[in-house]
Amino acid sequence: MTAKTPPYAGMQTYYAASATPAPERETLTSNIHCDACIIGAGFTGLSVGLELAEAGKSVVILEDHRIGWGASGRNGGQLINGYSRSLKVIGKRYGPGAERALGDMALEGSDIIRARVKKYAIDCDLVDGGVVTALTAKHMRDLEEHADEWHRHGHGAPYVIDKAALQKFVSSDRYVGAMVDPRSGHFHPLNYLLGEAAAFESLGGRIYEHSRALRIEEGATPAVHTANGKVTADTIIVCGNAYLGSTVPKLTARIMPVSSQVIATEPLGDLARELIPENHCVEDANYILDYFRRTADGRILYGGGAVYGGLDPISIEAKIRPNMLKTFPQLKNARIDFAWSGNFALTLSRIPQIGRLTPNIYFSHGDSGHGVTTTQLLGRLVAEAICGDTGRFDHFANLPYFPFPGGRLLRVPFSTLGSWYYIACDRLGL
Ligand SMILES: Cc1cc2nc3c(=O)[nH]c(=O)nc-3n(C[C@H](O)[C@H](O)[C@H](O)COP(=O)(O)OP(=O)(O)OC[C@H]3O[C@@H](n4cnc5c(N)ncnc54)[C@H](O)[C@@H]3O)c2cc1C
Repeated sequence: MTAKTPPYAGMQTYYAASATPAPERETLTSNIHCDACIIGAGFTGLSVGLELAEAGKSVVILEDHRIGWGASGRNGGQLINGYSRSLKVIGKRYGPGAERALGDMALEGSDIIRARVKKYAIDCDLVDGGVVTALTAKHMRDLEEHADEWHRHGHGAPYVIDKAALQKFVSSDRYVGAMVDPRSGHFHPLNYLLGEAAAFESLGGRIYEHSRALRIEEGATPAVHTANGKVTADTIIVCGNAYLGSTVPKLTARIMPVSSQVIATEPLGDLARELIPENHCVEDANYILDYFRRTADGRILYGGGAVYGGLDPISIEAKIRPNMLKTFPQLKNARIDFAWSGNFALTLSRIPQIGRLTPNIYFSHGDSGHGVTTTQLLGRLVAEAICGDTGRFDHFANLPYFPFPGGRLLRVPFSTLGSWYYIACDRLGL
């Protein structure tokens, strides 16, 4: 791996090395007051913050590291529409009302991204189009059903293609077909987030970096304490997701940090265009899935894997490169310039959760590996509720949730057992 010194300090990722120059924000060192205080400057925190700032609220965001340091600044950059569970499963579990409501909102997240990119002129290499590839006949049946579901919910865009037609999108023998979603797409997630942050600040929002929230004091006017300061606010929103740790004990058992790994090749010129000719993002239909795409400077960015508990493998390249070569043997001589890992938050149901811990303390988390678009949507729903319109928020907040079994010590081994089940399903094509 080639060593690079990224300008965005603290992250050894392709994104940090190609980040739009951004100011380092100050650390909180005093006691301040605002309408809303948000913990965590990822997509969720920025989405809530931007919506509230647009509504005229005074908003403070506290970030433990740099903004975008979490999953939002290190992900695959794929705008995957919908949720980590199909609408059919949502309907079976929670009833037709929930299926209809969540179905109506299923593609709103990617619309929000496109609208913000346009409104705030965010330079983030946004490209339209994505494919979900099938490795088995069962995957094909599932994708056909998935496309039908979206048609039924009025999102008429996706369509299914066979192996021959897929060659136009992915030059690989590995797949038997795919679903094409023209309303999917990909972007540079860190630059999108930096653009959102600049928009937020242009509306009067304040961000403090290197300012970890250590505890929340509940009450009529709750407060967030950091090492050197305190924010009192009418409302607090917890958006720390997989990196929250035990800051808010009531949330700990609701989510499981899971790490995923990404590598980026050297710039490949024509070869990258030959491998993914239409420049769509690609993910496969496995439970533990591979995801890949081209970058604006012609690399292949390839991710996959899932380590329960959020630990990093000893060698990221050793783990991901073999998968990449199974898909694209053409890359056997390609140099890997970057390799990194990041944590997303899994819920037991794989449906994201939003809610209130007290009447004035909200949370949003658990996008379960598909959060680029849902974080935008959920941020908007939380902001709507804070501004007094709870209708859409309640559809999500009222879904029953289940904590991970096994408590703090056993939830990782229990969930690892669960992941073996999914790996077996993938291997057996079930
Ligand atoms: C490697 C990887 C690849 C992925 N690829 C995709 C993809 O291609 N498409 C897709 O849809 N989804 C993808 N995801 C998932 C997606 O990135 C996440 O669901 C999404 O970014 C979550 O955003 P978030 O704001 O909720 O959390 P995060 O982005 O993790 O932000 C949380 C922030 O809170 C801060 N924080 C935590 N605790 C505190 C505290 N106590 N005080 C102050 N700050 C705190 C953290 O430092 C962090 O910056 C991927 C995830 C990973 C890890």
